[in-house]
Amino acid sequence: MANALEIRDLTVSVGDTEILKGLTLEIPFGEIHAVMGPNGSGKSTLCHALTGKDGYEVAGSAQIDGVSLLDKPVDVRSRLGLMQAFQYPVEVPGVELETLVLEAAEERGIDDAGRRVEAEAPRFGMEPFLERGVNHDLSGGEKKRSEIFQISVLSPKVALLDEIDSGLDIDAVRRVAGAVDEMRSPEMGVLMITHYSRILQHVTPDRVHVMIDGRIVESGGPELAQELEDGGYEGLRKRLGLAAPAPAPSERPVSDLFTNTPFDV
Ligand code: ADP
Ligand code: MG
Repeated sequence: MANALEIRDLTVSVGDTEILKGLTLEIPFGEIHAVMGPNGSGKSTLCHALTGKDGYEVAGSAQIDGVSLLDKPVDVRSRLGLMQAFQYPVEVPGVELETLVLEAAEERGIDDAGRRVEAEAPRFGMEPFLERGVNHDLSGGEKKRSEIFQISVLSPKVALLDEIDSGLDIDAVRRVAGAVDEMRSPEMGVLMITHYSRILQHVTPDRVHVMIDGRIVESGGPELAQELEDGGYEGLRKRLGLAAPAPAPSERPVSDLFTNTPFDV
């Protein structure tokens, strides 16, 4: 059987800047893979390239259940079974969550959507939100649970969760992690992007991949997340013999940015 998601030698550039530099990753059906990496390593760009966001030059290949993805427009990718939960879900006042989910299900040819909504809503504590505007006035954690609920109803082949834990308090992280675990299905592969390892204390991924500077530099089991928790990305860089990153301009002392100021006389 083909993998849920198979990415080979993916490079992504914007103008002259290469952001992803040859990324290879396989996610079998039924598995949850975590991708971790420091800020700016290219995690969100990976999602954008897979979903087909404009403005990126993309090379290499990506397949969903054996069907190539990168030559398809966004809506076809979605119909092939790709779905993303956003880092910052948008609010859509005036469109009820239930209406959105039922229409999306119809688009995908799901004919028992009403029954699915009834079954999935209680699992994610979504009953109070079904008749409210999509994400309208929901807390951060509720928005994330709503995204996961939508994925559960629409049952894509591949779910991309971009920083599903960012901006949440500890209790919300636990609930969202529980929701990701609930969503696990033999018919779906999950790519869970996270910046911190704390969510992984509550949902156990089958594999952990570390992305640094546009490449997967290490893959392993959940113990890899523990190594990062203990030694940070810096510790992993040292173990793998990777060069330290150039400091961001904002981290340089202000005095570095000036020479021969008039006050220097
Ligand atoms: P992450 O999600 O891992 O924090 P991103 O994928 O958002 O990282 O960004 C990776 C790098 O690519 C960053 O240095 C970012 O500034 C750069 N980048 C992302 N998108 C663009 C773009 N549209 N134009 C120019 N640079 C970009
Ligand atoms: Mg990001």
